[in-house]
Amino acid sequence: MNDFTGKNVLVLGGSRGIGAAIVRRFRAAGAAVAFTYAGSRDAAAALADETGATAIQANSADRDALTSVVAGRGALDVIVINAGTLVMGNPLDLDPDAVDHMIDVNVRAPYHAAVEAARRMNADGRIIVIGSVNGDRMPFAGGAAYALTKSAVQGMVRGLARDFGDRGITVNAIQPGPTDSDMNPAEGPMAATMHSFMAIKRHARPEEIAELAAYLAGPHAGMITGSLQTIDGGFGA
Ligand code: NDP
Repeated sequence: MNDFTGKNVLVLGGSRGIGAAIVRRFRAAGAAVAFTYAGSRDAAAALADETGATAIQANSADRDALTSVVAGRGALDVIVINAGTLVMGNPLDLDPDAVDHMIDVNVRAPYHAAVEAARRMNADGRIIVIGSVNGDRMPFAGGAAYALTKSAVQGMVRGLARDFGDRGITVNAIQPGPTDSDMNPAEGPMAATMHSFMAIKRHARPEEIAELAAYLAGPHAGMITGSLQTIDGGFGA
């Protein structure tokens, strides 16, 4: 296990699901960890009590609130931009405001947070954005808007990798497939359909995604940048 003692880590959207697993993983490896949340105050407080991480309420859709939290954490070693929302359904019926909110959280926020983090990030820092295999493959109807947000992440990490590479900072996306969380429960109504697209027919555990984040954040991953790390049980194969 990489040792992150002395490392300054910020997880955006860490109160539940994949983000909470990432908070636990970095704390277990000794890092100083802060995480943001929007609405899940109780879950955030419980996770802070459990792990000793610092919980900060900040809505990623509010650019000023977001960038001021990132700036306030000082010189980061690792930022994991995990906060995301999912709006699915017939595009003819979807609430356009809900779609725009998803674009704010899934696209605008990662860009502004990554740039703000890079302003004062330590050399050899790590910027990790949680994208989705749906950036590559959207095999059923109703996911166009979500897929567009995750495809946007792909272009962003490729570009920012070139912007910050001279400081040894790497910028990568992790692209999970179906992963057990409130957003996508392993026992949910879509589970069987999703498993039908996969070589390994189960949801991932959030801890499996967190393990990949810890690898990308560690010293052995310094040459991995501008990349899309897919962890999807073969969903996109
Ligand atoms: P959950 O819905 O279980 O958790 C989402 C987390 O993001 C919560 O901690 C939530 O905090 C936070 N969050 C949501 N909106 C905001 C906001 N506006 N500001 C700050 N924090 C926010 O989702 P998952 O853990 O499943 O998903 C995490 C990431 O992984 C997302 O980017 C998602 O798109 C991606 N992903 C998930 C997959 C899956 O199958 N689960 C597959 C592929 C990608 P709060 O509750 O306080 O609002």
